[in-house]
Amino acid sequence: MAKSKSVPDNEKIAIVTGAARGIGLEIARELLDMGMTVLGVDISVENLAAAKAELASDKFDIATLDVTDSAGFEKVVSDMVDKHGRLDVLVNNAGITRDNICVLLTDDDWDLVMKVNLKSAFIGTREAGKVMMRQRCGSIINMSSYSGLEGNRGQANYAASKAGMIGLSKSAAKELAKRNVRVNCVCPGFIKTEMTDAIPQEAKDMALTMIPMKRMGQPGDIAKAVGFLASDASGYITAQTLSVDGGMHT
Ligand code: NAD
Repeated sequence: MAKSKSVPDNEKIAIVTGAARGIGLEIARELLDMGMTVLGVDISVENLAAAKAELASDKFDIATLDVTDSAGFEKVVSDMVDKHGRLDVLVNNAGITRDNICVLLTDDDWDLVMKVNLKSAFIGTREAGKVMMRQRCGSIINMSSYSGLEGNRGQANYAASKAGMIGLSKSAAKELAKRNVRVNCVCPGFIKTEMTDAIPQEAKDMALTMIPMKRMGQPGDIAKAVGFLASDASGYITAQTLSVDGGMHT
């Protein structure tokens, strides 16, 4: 069996993508609360600066990154390892929607969503995976979605990208397991963030009828699940897809 070079949770080094707002910001907060050192990366310079001010922790740093930039992502990972000597947790959370019914979706809307949501998770998994394999421990968490499990009207591109993340995660998990590197997906349901604020009220009302718990989730609900998967409490859990959706997916 591979000899683990794991460190306690409060000494872990983490990168969270899409950390400037919404679910990613709450994940950064949760990992910081667990004592981890966190780098939050995002494409939005302004929101990142606001996140840095809000979290106000000397264990929280920020870096501007478009997660589709392979060389940029590689550099963020290698800079983090140069600075801290290791990388224990990567959360591939950055994501976008470009919704339309399938027959009206443009090639550009398809390509962009696949690139930002799925290709970036592949790049991150590859770069973090190399480091974690060498150190013989690590946890990669990919932010999929209920839409990736079930499909959703108006979201063929988004659902395909999120389903792809599950296939990516399960495959990488099987490759990396013997080096004590875990790869899991979290599938949020309907969570209150600026992403869902943009949905028309009628569609929100319809979505609520599908949730057995009859309420939207909060970003903190997702952050708690990610914190668990990042921690040693989930040390024997890999290649799994954890739904956090008020009971929608069973
Ligand atoms: P959000 O739009 O509030 O936040 C997404 C963050 O990702 C933003 O800060 C944005 O700037 C960043 N981002 C976008 N493109 C990027 C890029 N190319 N490079 C770097 N950063 C980029 O969304 P959210 O609701 O917080 O969602 C976070 C994740 O959870 C996404 O992957 C989303 O698909 C997933 N998710 C959300 C819900 C929900 O109900 N909110 C449900 C299921 C899954």
